Parts: sequence; C-alpha cells; structure tokens
Amino acid sequence: MPQKIADSPMMRQYRSIKKEYPDAFLFFRVGDFYEMFDSDAVKGAQLLELTLTSRSKSADEQIPMCGMPHHAIDKYLSELTEMGYKAAICDQIEDPKSSTGQTVKRQVTRVVTPGTFISDEDLTDNNYLSALVLGEEIGLAYADLATGEFKYTKFSNLNSAIFEVLGLNSRELVTTKNDLKRLKQVFAKRQMTFSPVDFKLDQEDPGVSAYTLLESYITSTQMRSLSNLSEPVYYEPQEFLLIDYASKQNLELTHALSTGKKYGSLFWALDQTSTTMGSRLLRNWIERPLLDPKKIEWRQDFVAILIKEYVIRNDLQGKLKKVYDLEHLSSKIAFGNINARELTMLKKTLQEIPQIKSALGKSGEEILRNYEKLLDPLTDISDLIDHSIKEDAPITITDGDIICDGYNSELDQYRDSLTGGRAWIAQMEAKEKARTGINTLKVGYNRVFGYYLEVSKVNQDKVPDNYQRKQTLANAERYITPELKEHENLILNARDNSAKLEYSLFNEIRDQIKEQIAKIQKLAGQVAQLDVLNALAIDSEKNSYVRPQISEKREIKLVESRHPVVEQANSVIDFVPNDILMPENNEITIITGPNMSGKSTYLRQLGLIVIMAQIGSFVPANEAKLPLFDQIFTRIGASDNLLTGESTFMVEMKEANRALQESTSNSLILMDEIGRGTATYDGMAIAMAIIKYLSEQVHAKTLFSTHYHELTQLSTQMNNLNNKHVGAVLKKGKLIFIHKMLDGPSDRSYGVHVAQLAGLPKQVVKDAFHYLKEFEKSSALAPVGKFSQENLFYQATASPEESISSELIQKIQGIDLDTLKPIDALNLLCELQEEV
Ligand code: ADP
Repeated sequence: MPQKIADSPMMRQYRSIKKEYPDAFLFFRVGDFYEMFDSDAVKGAQLLELTLTSRSKSADEQIPMCGMPHHAIDKYLSELTEMGYKAAICDQIEDPKSSTGQTVKRQVTRVVTPGTFISDEDLTDNNYLSALVLGEEIGLAYADLATGEFKYTKFSNLNSAIFEVLGLNSRELVTTKNDLKRLKQVFAKRQMTFSPVDFKLDQEDPGVSAYTLLESYITSTQMRSLSNLSEPVYYEPQEFLLIDYASKQNLELTHALSTGKKYGSLFWALDQTSTTMGSRLLRNWIERPLLDPKKIEWRQDFVAILIKEYVIRNDLQGKLKKVYDLEHLSSKIAFGNINARELTMLKKTLQEIPQIKSALGKSGEEILRNYEKLLDPLTDISDLIDHSIKEDAPITITDGDIICDGYNSELDQYRDSLTGGRAWIAQMEAKEKARTGINTLKVGYNRVFGYYLEVSKVNQDKVPDNYQRKQTLANAERYITPELKEHENLILNARDNSAKLEYSLFNEIRDQIKEQIAKIQKLAGQVAQLDVLNALAIDSEKNSYVRPQISEKREIKLVESRHPVVEQANSVIDFVPNDILMPENNEITIITGPNMSGKSTYLRQLGLIVIMAQIGSFVPANEAKLPLFDQIFTRIGASDNLLTGESTFMVEMKEANRALQESTSNSLILMDEIGRGTATYDGMAIAMAIIKYLSEQVHAKTLFSTHYHELTQLSTQMNNLNNKHVGAVLKKGKLIFIHKMLDGPSDRSYGVHVAQLAGLPKQVVKDAFHYLKEFEKSSALAPVGKFSQENLFYQATASPEESISSELIQKIQGIDLDTLKPIDALNLLCELQEEV
C-alpha cells in the first residue's frame, strides 16, 4: 500500500514545527512557494483570498493547502498583521540539491506580528510594539522596529499607562503570562494582539522589567540580533505635557474625528516637512509637547531665525527634499536586508549632508552654526558606497551586476573573461557563416542547451563535420561544437563565480556600514529635527504666526487669535479672530451663545494654541503670552464611545471625572456643554457642581461652554469666574453669526432661529416660536435671570420630584379619598392639571 501523503516526511516535519507555533500561521517554504496546510490553509485561504486546494489528490485523504510564490509573501504578511494575526516563516535552511536526508532541513527564521512587521512602503506612521508589566508600579516599554526607537518608563497607576499605550496606537501588547488576563479585560473592546511571554521578572524597576520583556519577545520573534534598536531610553511621562487619549482625539491632533484621516488635524495644518522622518517626528512632537521652558525656547529661537533667514529656509527645504528615510534605511542595514538600491539611497542622502551644512553655515547666527557642526556627513560611508555599488544595480542581490568595476580585482578578472567569452561567441557567428557559406546560420542561447548554432533545414548539406546535432526543430537543426561549449563553460563559470563573489562583497560592505549604525541613527534624528524646525518656520511665515511668550504668571493673553486648522481648511469663510484673555485671577470663563456660533471652535482654538506653543511652534495670533501647562483635559464632542460600548453621557462623565481628579492649578480644562447628555435639571445640576468644584478646589484655567444660561449667574458669587458669549445678531428675524467673542453672558439661546436656519418646515418653526413663548411664560422651565442665587442652587441640585411645588403636594396629600365623590375627583384633577 502506498504511503499516505499525510505521513510523508515533509508533512511530519510540517506538523512538528507547527506544534511550536500554535498561535501563528505557519508559512512553510516548499521550493519557490510558501505553503499553508491543514486548518491554517482553510482559514488563511479565506482571509487572504487564496485558492484552497489539497496536497493529496486522493479522495480519501484531504490535506487542505494554499500558498503563494515566495516573492509575493510581504503583501500577504502585511494583510495578516493588519488583521491582527501572526505568521511564522519557515524556510529551507539548506540547499535542496545538497540535501543528504529525505527532506530538506527547514526552520522558522522569523515570526511576523502586528507590532513587528516592517512594511516596505513609506513609513509615515510609527508602528509601536508595547510591553506592560503590572505591579505596584506599572512598567511600560515600546519600540518601533522600523526606526529603531526604543523607550521605557513607569507609571504609578494603571489608567495612565493604558492611556499611554492607546496614545501610541500600539496594535500589539507584550505581557507576562500572569498579567495577560487582567490586561485583556482592560483592552477588551480594542483591536489588540496580545503576546504573552513566559517570563520571570527579576528586576526591581518595573520600567526595566518592561523593556527586558520587550527585548526578549523581539529576540524570540526576529531570531537575530537587535542591533537596529537603539539602547532603551528612559523617559518621564511628566517630561511632556500630558494630553490624555480622549483629548488627543477630541482636539483632532493627528487625525480628524469624522474621517480618521490626517486632513483636518493639527498635524495636517503644520506638516510642511520635506522628509518622511521629519513628518513622523512632527507628529511625535504634537503628541508630546514639552514642559521645559529652556527646550521650548531653544526651538523657538531656531524657528525665529529660520523665519528671518528665508534664503536659508528655502535652501534647506530644497535640500531636505532629496533626503531619503534614513531611519528606515538604517533599520534595514541593522536587519541585514538592505539591498543595493537602498544603499545608493543612503549614499545620496549622505551626499546631501554637506549641502545642508553649507546652507546652515551661511547664517551668522550661532544656533544654526552650532547645529551645522553637529551634523556628520559620514563621508567614509558615502565614499565606500560610491566606490563599490553601481547606481543602477538591480534589486536582487544574488544575481550580480551590483559591484562597480575596479572595486575588486578578482571580480574584474571574471568580468573580463565574461566579456571575452561573449565577444568570442559574437564573432563566431560571422566566422562560421564565412566558413560554411550558410548565410542564415546564427548563434543562439537557451536555458536547456546553452549556446548552439542554428542551421535551417534547407542548408543541412552544408553543415561541417565538427558540428554535433543537439536539437531538431520543424525548420531547423541546432548544433554545438566542442569549441563553443568550451567558451560557454568559461562564460557560465565566470558568471557564476562573479555573482557569488559579488554577493559576498556586498555582504562585506553591508557589514562594514552596519558597524556605524549608531552614527547613522544619530544623524537621522538630527536631520529629522532640522526638517521639523524648518517646517515650523515655513508654517509661521505662511500663516503669519507670532512667537508666544512663555509667562511665569498664570495668565493667558492671546490677541486676535485664530483656530490653526479651521482657518486653513476653510478657504471660503474668513475666520474671525478672537481674543482669549484670562488674567491670573480669572480661572474659569463660562461661554454662552447660540449653537453654531463658534463656542467649541473657541475652546479647541485655545487647546491647539497651547499645544503649538509647547512644541516650540509659533501660534496664530497677533500677540501671545501663555503660561506652561502641565496637562490638558477636554470634554468636547458628544460621540458615543462605540468601542467601549458606553453611552454619550457615561463617556462625558468619565472624561469630566478625569479632569476633576487629575488636574492641577497648572492644567488647562476645556469643557463643551457638559451635562447635555442627560435631562435638563440633572445636566444643569452636574454642570453647576463641576464649576463650583473647579472654582473652589482645582483652580485650573477652564473654558466652559454651556446652554444653561442659568450658569452665567455664578459670576456674581465666584470671583475667579467670568462670562463671555459669542455674538449673533437678528436681521429681519433671521439669525446671523458674527463669531465674535463678547464680554458677559448671552441674552438668549436662539435655538429656534438655528432650527430655522437648518431649513425646518415653516410650520414647525412657527409652532416652535409659539411654544417657546409659552414656555418662557410658564414657571416649569427657567428663563434667564429668573432665579435668585439661592434657588438657582436649589433648582440645580433638586430632583424633579422635589421641584414640584410643595403647595401642590400638600393639596394632593389633603384629599380624603374615602369621602371624595367621582364628580369632585374629576373637578379636582382638572384643577391640578391647570396648576402644573
Ligand atoms: P458651537 O460650538 O457654538 O455650536 P462651532 O464652534 O461648532 O459652534 O462652530 C460652528 C461653525 O462656525 C463652524 O463651522 C466653524 O467653522 C464656524 N466658526 C466658528 N468660529 C468661527 C470664527 N471665529 N470665524 C469664522 N467661522 C467660525
């Protein structure tokens, strides 16, 4: 009985390897293909839209199989990791031809996961792999394998650590086996790939534990040295302005809420960078503004000079555009998978550095000249590549044609033999034509027979004796001669030898460059930073920004300030500048005004300007003075959090809670219509209690927009609070927005007017105006200014039941149901109804 395929040595090998990687798809190299088998094949075929076949042709033995050509694997790995899966790549680790055993030796050479996959496309986003270690303190480490960035820190509470991971947008989290369950609960509603590691923590410092854990995971998946990762760098979360995850989303720092795209975000508005690394760094800066005034001022000084020196600025912009992604290239060098073309990119980039230096050197300003001195063009590397690597080298590195002539004498000899051999063959055709008199004779080449002489059937009688027949075609015969074969061997040997030699030379060059990886990474960081600073100068010039003065006092003074994104995104409307003035004693500003008048724009404007100032950028205003903020909290936008399944109101309360619990007097709080997610009285009560707490306990600078006009009364009893409103005017009964921030509270809310602008049917608008009048007359709802301070608090904190007049309650309680006649009961009901 023939052996079943399932029991074949190869399938047994497959299954024993697969056992070691139960949580990954096993890509099993068979010849020129990567194959998946069994359940991997069934699921893989479905996910990747591959054709599912069977390894065995026999009907009683089905071994599901699917696969792809080896060169196409990256595309599929990218898709799988995007979906959150892992893949183990199992390669043939010996030449099948020289294999002595029955099956060629195979081994997993790397495991690709969502957090370790390096795409070959433009790396505009970082892909951070994170590791968390839980304990009394929480250790966090993260790394980006494509750029080599590697950082760690620790937190005193889990919440802050979670928000940091969310802020990093990590798609994969490495944990210890112990912590897995708890962390899975925390991230339950997120798309997150968990990678538990059997790991004994012997470090006291949770931050060190976290990076050791991360290192061990990376080593186990990459199966090679981690030389592309820089040494882990410790950072204090407190080094940066803390912007929690929700606020980053709400302020649309890196992508717009509605689309999830860069367009419409602060990052979009500021991104005038010329390089991919610069763009990545700018994004990083926006997510982590600084707290150290010296560092901020250094950046501001740099930007100020670049604004002034427009020739240098333009020059730098042009030069930087020629720079490739050095971080990505250096990581490829470290991984050992850089190809010849990419080395040429490295060379071209390094050759730009002297130009960049000379642009900076033209400045008389010390700060630019100092920077110039820091930049090392690594001439030894660019010279080495220049002498050794052909500029038009192919992508494959095993087929030769990579190394320059003159770089290696042995290689030159092979190439001479190759050229000589080819020339001899080229001449042979003419020589043989003359000798035989066959004008149609030609020399050709194919992979099976090598070089041959081809003579058409009609000329067969002229074929000389020394021709040996090799192949018969319909109209011709193909021959070889010993001499031809001799030269062919020469050519083939020379080609083979030179390709092998080129490959080993290429590896030597790569290794030589690899030794300088730290220097390349350093240079990459410096160039990226220069690019960002130059971009900020370009922004500033283009949009007439002003340098913000960092004030030691808790004072905000923004004269004629604008929203950096709205003013750029909407070219149709003229953005109306507004002052944002909050002297030291003004901690809370209550903002009223109709819907659509610009309240939330004003709130966001302040948030974004603060962030711009603390990354070292200039800001959209005519004059700017700001204190340094330690944290920003926002409650803006009423989107339900679909991921955690929480209602709008719950999300709103949680965000408000964070602001109240965690902010300090140096924080900035932006609250947009707190309380609107619930019933009017509840909402107003909560809003009022929050303001009271902020005013008495927190003392953070707070902008608080609201529809509850009653809240504006608070200014009479809280001296750190004032009122502003966004102006709107009625013209012939129609509401016109002027988007101008004015002192004091708004007189009314104009809600029905806004509804009218939205195009509601005339009848509805007419009825609404009518009801509004009725409501304003009635006591059940509170018109502006109706309440004294005392009953304002009473109104806000009382439950709806309590707010029903006590007189009415007394009346109802006084009814004697035993004696009441039905007709009297009806009359009484009618009476009561009129009262409510
Ligand atoms: P609100 O929060 O009061 O409902 P928004 O802040 O959402 O209003 O603004 C409503 C619209 O008005 C937005 O489309 C915005 O672009 C525009 N807007 C807001 N402020 C200004 C301004 N200062 N100048 C011009 N347009 C503005």
